[in-house]
Amino acid sequence: MTAGAVTADGRGIELADGKQLPMLGLGVWQVPDGPTCVNAVRWALELGYRHIDTAQAYGNEESVGKALRDSGLPRDEVFITTKFYPGRRDPVAEAEGSLRRLGLDHVDLYLVHWPQGGPVRAWPGMEQARERGLATSVGVSNFSATDLGQVIAAGSVPPAVNQVDFSAVHYRRGLLDACLRAGVVLEAYSPLGTGRYVSNRRVTEIAARTGRTPAQVLLRWCLQHDVPVIPKSTHRERIAENAEIFDFTLSAQDMAELDALDQTRGTDRARTRLVTVLWLLRCRPGGEPVGDHRRDEIVGDLFALE
Ligand code: NAP
Repeated sequence: MTAGAVTADGRGIELADGKQLPMLGLGVWQVPDGPTCVNAVRWALELGYRHIDTAQAYGNEESVGKALRDSGLPRDEVFITTKFYPGRRDPVAEAEGSLRRLGLDHVDLYLVHWPQGGPVRAWPGMEQARERGLATSVGVSNFSATDLGQVIAAGSVPPAVNQVDFSAVHYRRGLLDACLRAGVVLEAYSPLGTGRYVSNRRVTEIAARTGRTPAQVLLRWCLQHDVPVIPKSTHRERIAENAEIFDFTLSAQDMAELDALDQTRGTDRARTRLVTVLWLLRCRPGGEPVGDHRRDEIVGDLFALE
């Protein structure tokens, strides 16, 4: 199979390095370390998820590791992603710290969380982490098409994944195309718009006529664009609901209506500089979220200005 090819059962996608990424994962951004995170991950694993997305910046790697151990599942059946916090210097040393907190000897995917210090700054260290077996695959997050081109030109191993803000409302066609051309799998974070898009009128209409929930419609839209998704929830019933997306198909008309929700004008950018700064403030290790900042409206305003 070639990079970006979805497996016959629709549940995995091939990476350029020959590994497979499960199309559905549980995201744990803003899930407090401790019982809330342990329970969310435990429920997800009980409900059939085999992919968990954490990060050094989320401060909950210990809980992810605990839930994984408690599950009793064989290590090689669960795909674990963590992300290098690029405010730090050394991706190898930080990977070792992640592995200590997770209680693992390797992660399946290690991403540069955002291109702080320039897109190529962390990449040699990421390649070293892979060479030392600390991570099976390495990739990036929040990289634009230009950033991606630079890291591919500079590195000896291309990023396997670019994890970005991607949904029907943030349908970054230019970035998706650039990733496809480069053999990099685009992975969608915030596929529900951090919860905001489940009440979108068009999404709820499509949900009503397909007999599915708005969250399932938004997640299915990603799958039908061959894009893996990592929705976050701390509620067992929602974690279950978000996994029931492999047994229905959105029609061409549904897909076209959802495509038309895009507010990014099909950009090849990962996110705007201002949004990255706001996000950094919410997500620094040990830091408290500074509030919502109406991210969507800000993104909409910035694109409207361009
Ligand atoms: P999301 O998955 O788009 O949405 C999560 C929100 O929607 C939560 O508030 C959740 O509430 C709610 N929700 C979940 N399922 C629902 C359902 N079925 N019906 C109604 N509401 C539902 O948000 P996200 O956390 O921004 O993104 C997902 C993951 O992507 C993150 O957890 C993280 O792993 C990753 N991410 C990565 C980056 C990056 O820079 N690489 C940035 C952002 C996110 P409850 O929890 O209360 O159920």
